[in-house]
Amino acid sequence: MGPPGAGKGTQAKRLSEKYAMRHLSSGDILRAERAAGSALGRELARYMDAGALVPDETIVKVMVKALTGGSDGQGILLDGFPRTVPQAQALDAQLAQAGKPLDAVAVIDASRDEIVARITGRRSCPRCGRAYHVTFLRPRRDDLCDDCGQALTRRSDDTEAVVRQRLEAYDRQTEPVIAYYRRRPGLKVLDIDGSAAPDEVTRRLQRAFDALVHQG
Ligand code: AMP
Repeated sequence: MGPPGAGKGTQAKRLSEKYAMRHLSSGDILRAERAAGSALGRELARYMDAGALVPDETIVKVMVKALTGGSDGQGILLDGFPRTVPQAQALDAQLAQAGKPLDAVAVIDASRDEIVARITGRRSCPRCGRAYHVTFLRPRRDDLCDDCGQALTRRSDDTEAVVRQRLEAYDRQTEPVIAYYRRRPGLKVLDIDGSAAPDEVTRRLQRAFDALVHQG
């Protein structure tokens, strides 16, 4: 969890590869639906481009379908979901049914100035999803993915005005989810300072994850 631009997507991708987990990014799933041009995709676009959260009922349906779609026994790393308390409650019900409670919640945070600077310079590869930044995480060749050579793209909601709306939605709707998890006895909430360089944040997350694995 964490505000937009804190590094959730970049870090979730790296950690899911390292620990062979299935990475489920709600934002990526919604963007794929939009790209498919379905009626649902067009409805989603209205919310996403305004920096608002899509309705709980819609996202819960989409995420429950994604959650139940994988192979048994593989861990799941959720990125961007849940973002409201009703979503967290729906996830709890789903996980209880599967007999697989949450192991831990990682919260990555960064200052608001840092977030705006990061998001407005953010680029990604449309093929593999690898994340870049025009200043902080440059590709080897300008505007091209290091891995697939594809031209990098910018998200339509990564403008300063929309980022402000997304931060407002985070404070109002998502912060209470973190409080909800902090109150849960026995659930580990890992607080990670996301203002460091991406490799350093990865190291810190790995240390926290490894400690969890060793504790059983
Ligand atoms: P993200 O890529 O995680 O920043 O998500 C991009 C946009 O997708 C958000 O600004 C929301 O409009 C929508 N979205 C992603 N995840 C959720 C969620 N869990 N609940 C509601 N809307 C979401």
